[in-house]
Amino acid sequence: MHKLDKQFINNHWVASHGQRRLAVMDPFREEMIAEITAGDAADVEAAVAAARQAQPAWQALGGKARGDYLDAFAEALSARRDELIRVSSTNNGKALMEAGIDLDDAIACYRYYAGQARALEARQGRLVEHAMEGVEARCYEDPAGVVGLIAPWNFPLVTSAWKLAPALAAGCTAVFKPSEVTPLPELALAEIALEIGLPAGVINLLHGDGDGIGAPLTQHPGIDKLSFTGSNAVGEKVMQAAAHGARGVSLELGGKSPILVLDDADVAKAADWVMAGIFFNSGQICSATSRLIVHEAISESLYAALGERIDALTLGDPLDEASDMGPMTSARQRDAVQSYLALAEREELEAVRDARHRRLPSQGYFVAPTLYRDVPEDSRLWREEIFGPVLCARNVTSEEEAIALANDSAFGLAATVISGDAERAKRVGRALRAGSIWFNTEQLVLPETGWGGFGISGIGRELGPWGLAGYLEVKHIVGPA
Ligand code: NAD
Repeated sequence: MHKLDKQFINNHWVASHGQRRLAVMDPFREEMIAEITAGDAADVEAAVAAARQAQPAWQALGGKARGDYLDAFAEALSARRDELIRVSSTNNGKALMEAGIDLDDAIACYRYYAGQARALEARQGRLVEHAMEGVEARCYEDPAGVVGLIAPWNFPLVTSAWKLAPALAAGCTAVFKPSEVTPLPELALAEIALEIGLPAGVINLLHGDGDGIGAPLTQHPGIDKLSFTGSNAVGEKVMQAAAHGARGVSLELGGKSPILVLDDADVAKAADWVMAGIFFNSGQICSATSRLIVHEAISESLYAALGERIDALTLGDPLDEASDMGPMTSARQRDAVQSYLALAEREELEAVRDARHRRLPSQGYFVAPTLYRDVPEDSRLWREEIFGPVLCARNVTSEEEAIALANDSAFGLAATVISGDAERAKRVGRALRAGSIWFNTEQLVLPETGWGGFGISGIGRELGPWGLAGYLEVKHIVGPA
C-alpha cells in the first residue's frame, strides 16, 4: 500500500506538515490502496516559495526550451502508458478504455502546448499595426507568474494536463493540487518532472484536501492566478478567494448538457451517441449529455433502442477488458447519485431502465445505468448535475421547442445535436448556448479547440490558444518610431 506522507516541493519529496490521514480507495474492490497525509498551510507556504524562486529562470528560458520540456513530458507519459492506465483504472474505477482516453488526451495536450510555447517565443515583440504615423508599438506576452492549479477526481490526468501544459508553456511555475480522492495517477507527474530534468520548483505537487491545501492555496498572496476544475460550490469559494488582490481566475465547473435527437436522425446511430454521452466514465463527466431531448416522432423507437443497449452494458471490474462500465469513483459519489434516484422514486418518474432491471455486481460502488422519460422541467433531476449514469429525457414536437428546452438551463458547458442532415445539425448547434457543441458525435475534445462553459459552467476557456492566453499577461511597448 502506498503511504503518501510526502509533498513534492522544489524537486524533492519532503515530509508533509499535516497530521490528518486520508484513505485512498479502490472503488471496485472497496479496499484502501493508499493513505495520504493531508498537507496544510505550511506545505503551501513552502511550495509557493519554491515556485516563486523558480519562475524568473523558467520564464527566461524561452518558449522553445519550455516546449522541449513539454514534449519530453508527453514522451515520458507515453512510455508509462500501460502502468498509468492500470493505476488510473484502479484508483478511479474507470474501465481500461476510458483510462486510456484520459491518458491519450493528456499526452496530446502536452504535445499541443509544446508547439504553442514555441509559437509564443516566435511572436514575442511583434509590431502592432496601427493608424498613427511615426510611432512604433510592439506586443509581448509575459507569464502571469506563479499559478495555483486545483483538479477534481473524474479525469485526473487530463484535467491536470489542461492546466499544467499551458501554464508551463506560458512561463508560469505551478503549485498543483490533485484531488485527494484520486492522487495516484498524478504521482507520475512528479516522477516525470525528475526523470526529464525539469528545473526545480517549476511543478510543485501537494497532497491534501480542500481545507488543508485547497483553501490556503487559493488565499496565498504569492499566487498570481488560480485555475480550478470542480464543483460549483467550491468554484464560488475559489472566486471569492481570488478577489483578494484582484487575481485572475479560471473556473471549469459543472454541466447539465443536452443531447438533441432531431426527427430525421437514424435511431440506431442516435442511440449509440446517447449512450456514449451519458454512460462514459459512469456518467462522472462534466460534459455528460444528461438531458435527452428527442422529437416525439422517433422517441418510442429511441427509448426501445436505448433500453436494449443499457441491458447489454457489462458492469464489472474496471481492469477486466470485458467491462463497459466501472463503479462510481467513491462511496460518497454513489450516495450522492442514489439520493437523486430516491427523489425520482418520490416524484414517481417513469424509468425506462433503472436498478430494478438489472443485478449489480456484488462489490464496488455501482449505480445502475438509468433512463427516466417525461421528466418534468421543474424536477431537480432535469435541472441539477447528477454526475452519475442517470439520463433524463423529454419529448418535443419541433426543432424550435428542442432548442428552447436545451437552452433553458443555468449551465452551458456542452451540447450534442444528432440529425440525418449534418448542415441542419450545425445550424441547430449555432443556436445553442454552450462552449462545446458536437454534431453526430459525442465527447470529442481536440486540444486545438477551447473548453469551458457559458453561465454557471464556469469562467474562461481551457485548451486552444485561449488556454494559453489564460496564463499570459499582454504588454505593449510604444514610442517614437
Ligand atoms: P470538488 O469541487 O469537490 O473538488 C475539486 C477540487 O477542489 C478537489 O481537489 C478538492 O480537494 C478541492 N477543494 C475542495 N474544497 C476546496 C476549497 N475550499 N478551496 C480550494 N479547493 C478545494 O469537485 P469534485 O467532486 O472533485 O469534482 C466533481 C465536479 O467537478 C463536478 O461538479 C464536475 O462537473 C466538475 N468538473 C468540471 C469539469 C469541467 O471541465 N468543466 C471537468 C471535470 C469535473
